[in-house]
This record gives sequence, C-alpha cells and structure tokens, in this order.
Amino acid sequence: MSVIDVKNLSKSFGSLRVLNDITEHIDKGEKVVIIGPSGSGKSTFLRCLNFLEVPTAGEVIIDGVSLTDRKTDIDKVRRQLGMVFQHFNLFPHLSILGNLTLAPVKLGIMSEQEAKEEAMRLLKRVGLEEKAKAYPNQLSGGQKQRIAIVRALAMKPKVMLFDEPTSALDPEMVGEVLQVMKELAQEGMTMVVVTHEMGFAREVATRVWFMDEGAILEQAPPGEFFDHPKNQRTKDFLSKVL
Ligand code: ADP
Ligand code: MG
Repeated sequence: MSVIDVKNLSKSFGSLRVLNDITEHIDKGEKVVIIGPSGSGKSTFLRCLNFLEVPTAGEVIIDGVSLTDRKTDIDKVRRQLGMVFQHFNLFPHLSILGNLTLAPVKLGIMSEQEAKEEAMRLLKRVGLEEKAKAYPNQLSGGQKQRIAIVRALAMKPKVMLFDEPTSALDPEMVGEVLQVMKELAQEGMTMVVVTHEMGFAREVATRVWFMDEGAILEQAPPGEFFDHPKNQRTKDFLSKVL
C-alpha cells in the first residue's frame, strides 16, 4: 500500500489556482525529489500533505488514513510526517536538547528521560552531541538544519518532507546537510524533497517530478529524467539549472 496517496488534489488561494488536480501515490521507501520553477506550487503541495494547507478539492491519504475525512484526528496523522523547512524553525528560547524533547514529551509519546536519551542518540548520529546545551543562535546554519532534521526524526515519522532544506545555507554548509539526508535515505526512510540540488536528486531519488503551474508535468527515475527529458518545459528548466 502507498504511504502517501493523493487523489485529484487542487488548491486555490482566492482566484489563484495553485495546484491543479494532482493524482499521485508514493510507496514506502520511495525518495521523490520535486523540482520546478519558483511559484509552481511545490511548497503548497508539501504543505497539503500534512494539512498545513487545507486542500480546496481532492483527497490526501496518509498510510491509509484520509486527512480530508472530517472524522480523522489530523494531529495524530501529522505526527507521522516530519517536516523540514528552508529556515530551520527551531525554537530560539530553548536549548538544542529542549528543541528535541519538547514535542515527544508534550504529546505524551515519551517520558522526559526517554526523550532525552533519544535526543542524545540523534545528536550523536549527526555529530552534534556537544551542542545539546547550546541555543540555536550559537549554531551555524548547517548545524541548525541538522538539528531541525533530527528534531523531526525524534517523532519517529513514517515520512520526511523537506522543503528546500539547503536553500538558505552558505555553500560550504550544504554538503553536511545533504549527507544527513543521504544517510536517512539509505536507512529506508520514505522522503519527499523539494530541492534545487540536482546532484542529490540524481544520486538519491527513486523518482524525480517536474512541477510547473500546479501540475506534475513530467516524472521519471533520475537517469532517464536528467538524460532524456521529454517535455520542452522540463528541458528549458534543466538547461537553466544544470
Ligand atoms: P513554490 O514552492 O513552487 O515556489 P508555492 O507553493 O510557494 O510555490 O506557491 C505557489 C503559488 O501560490 C505562488 O503564486 C504563491 O504566491 C501562491 N501562494 C502560496 N501560498 C499562498 C498563500 N498562503 N496565500 C496566497 N497565495 C499563496
Ligand atoms: Mg517553495
């Protein structure tokens, strides 16, 4: 069964139609990389997957549970989707350990002690255990983003959504964040990643989607996608970014 099932998904803001009747599914363990021009609806699509945006029409089903069903406990489903944003969104007034333990403890998923142990394990995994007591403003952009990723992982999500996770980073910090994402991919995590990092897409993606004007215009495994794009708009886009 698909982990993510999207049926005839449309989203409008007022009269602006941003997503146009998208039907797609993503299987367990898949790594879908979404590329496309600015304003094509990539962020809106990710945000509809966890109901940060409510679809105008259509259905989003996560692991068999319909988010668009009024009886569904949205918060419960949302916990299965970890999300990482361009601008980290760490809590500035909490230590790194506080950032990692807040949600699991508050939501009653772990005891304080369990959450701390899990947080230290995750920090070790990304080589930042000595930062446990530091505050976000004492970290580099690359470190903050690695923390944001493990903070999402602390909730033990089934899927990880990434919205341009390296776009706000200085170039020398991009690699360390992509490395964490590659390791996550190797461990079998289901991932949906909006990025301009074409090298990452080629190396990690099981499928690449090209989004334009609220639709998935073309998709293929990365080799085929990058070497033999079919749609003229995909070709034009790739000629600008590659
Ligand atoms: P992308 O991530 O591909 O750059 P977005 O999904 O952010 O594209 O935006 C797609 C379109 O929707 C843009 O025209 C953007 O201005 C518009 N949009 C996004 N969010 C909102 C919102 N909350 N209200 C109004 N318009 C929005
Ligand atoms: Mg965006």
